[in-house]
Amino acid sequence: MRIVLLGPPGAGKGTQADILVKKLLVPHISTGDMFRAAISHDTELGREAKSYMDKGQLVPDEVTVGIIRDRISQSDCREGFLLDGFPRTLAQAEALAGLLEEMNISLDAVINISVPLDRLIDRLTGRRMCRKCGTIYHLLYNAPEVENICDACGGDLFQRDDDKEETVKSRLDVYSAQTAPLIDYYREAGLLHDVNGDQPINAVLAELGAALGQNWS
Ligand code: ADP
Ligand code: AMP
Repeated sequence: MRIVLLGPPGAGKGTQADILVKKLLVPHISTGDMFRAAISHDTELGREAKSYMDKGQLVPDEVTVGIIRDRISQSDCREGFLLDGFPRTLAQAEALAGLLEEMNISLDAVINISVPLDRLIDRLTGRRMCRKCGTIYHLLYNAPEVENICDACGGDLFQRDDDKEETVKSRLDVYSAQTAPLIDYYREAGLLHDVNGDQPINAVLAELGAALGQNWS
């Protein structure tokens, strides 16, 4: 299956993607994770991406489309993939359509996880991630068993720089201006499924499974 997860920052895309890829057995492709990996390796891509991410802005389309082109042409994507956080602009969506056409493949579904914007600030400022394995937690809504320690691997948890309140506000503005128009774009293409992200993680997963024609309950 070839799936796109759409939704504002903090909607729960990464949380759901981590569970979904274990069920669907396709690679999880998160442009945010790819940029964070490049930053931690201090590559040229990482330095460029960081200058935008720190301000809550989007990394330029040419750069982002370039890394997606390279990634989806790898052999592990032959049977499908789950895109998380890409596309985020109309130009990226059009570039993706062109890439898929060149490869003679198409998307199966676009899932729009919606959460009211005023709930997202809490979700983002309370988010913590494992430095070692990337597992996503929340101080209140999805806390680890031992404070600041990852349940999955024992690694330390940290707060993303762009999850501080000042940056979160810019990211939500960028979402409304540049990414929200993709909802209509994919609805018109007949690919969109709406899922209510403002409910417990397992309930979101069940709705998502139903949208994809799976029964995981
Ligand atoms: P995104 O990838 O869309 O930015 P995340 O999956 O990282 O979002 O989730 C953002 C924050 O909200 C994390 O701290 C996560 O633990 C928490 N979260 C995810 N899904 C839910 C949910 N259904 N209810 C409450 N909190 C959630
Ligand atoms: P995320 O992990 O999806 O919240 O993304 C973190 C940050 O990475 C975003 O705020 C952007 O600065 C950058 N980023 C991730 N995906 C994209 C994308 N598709 N286009 C542009 N910038 C992106």
